[in-house]
Amino acid sequence: MTTDLADLAGQATRWTTCRVDEVQRIADRLVRLRLEPASWVPGLAGQHCVIRLRDGDGCTAQRSYSLASDPADPLVEVMVECLPAGEVSGFLHDEVRVDDVLELRGPIGGWFTWTGDVTAVAIGGGTGVVPLVAMLRYAARLGLVDRLRVVAVARTLAELPYAQELLAAGAFVALTRENLGARVAAPPYPAELAAPARDVDRGYVCGSVGFASYAARLLGEVGVRSDVIRVEQFGATG
Ligand SMILES: Cc1cc2nc3c(=O)[nH]c(=O)nc-3n(C[C@H](O)[C@H](O)[C@H](O)COP(=O)(O)OP(=O)(O)OC[C@H]3O[C@@H](n4cnc5c(N)ncnc54)[C@H](O)[C@@H]3O)c2cc1C
Repeated sequence: MTTDLADLAGQATRWTTCRVDEVQRIADRLVRLRLEPASWVPGLAGQHCVIRLRDGDGCTAQRSYSLASDPADPLVEVMVECLPAGEVSGFLHDEVRVDDVLELRGPIGGWFTWTGDVTAVAIGGGTGVVPLVAMLRYAARLGLVDRLRVVAVARTLAELPYAQELLAAGAFVALTRENLGARVAAPPYPAELAAPARDVDRGYVCGSVGFASYAARLLGEVGVRSDVIRVEQFGATG
């Protein structure tokens, strides 16, 4: 165990190269990348990596991206939303091609992780669902799906990363700008969270700064204690 943790910590601080194995552009602004690292130590579901870009003058830019891949997956999978004027997300969305080589560091993070030891409710907004997808994939592989309830929130189904996979895995999906079946467009209601949040030992919240505070408050309203809620925020002030 000690060795594993030491390996993990060492790996997280070391840069490696990775070959781009697959590029899938989804909807207008999402790209799914599958990366083959030269060196990688499997981590925990919920962790993230850092991707570093380097231009011809040696200038670098690096950003964090949650891992969607099950830790047992030999490839690293990320889902990137292209932000307006986004330096790194724009490059990853528009320019990256199969067989390009990027720099990568990770897996990183010990707080926003789930090992299946506790029953949890996890709420993600937009690309905030990405680490929850890793948790779902991990849960499916180990037969722990009854311990993880996922709630995914997005404006439309087309803008929700991994929409079909989330629905197939039984996640509750709340769309705010379009109806989904009989559900009228709206943010999730406390009543809709009551069942997934019942008797959980832990809550996970991931998304933009605004989404994270909203979702954490919602979990509080349905009885999840604030000291068991773990939050991962994306964004300029995250
Ligand atoms: C732990 C962690 C995990 C993350 N996982 C993911 C992920 O799975 N997928 C993903 O797409 N992103 C993720 N992010 C966000 C990502 O790290 C970058 O912030 C994002 O890609 C923007 O970088 P950029 O270089 O394109 O934008 P920049 O060039 O840095 O900024 C462009 C403009 O967008 C604003 N901005 C920057 N970041 C954000 C943001 N996240 N949301 C809204 N506005 C922003 C800036 O203020 C600026 O106005 C994660 C962040 C963290 C901290």
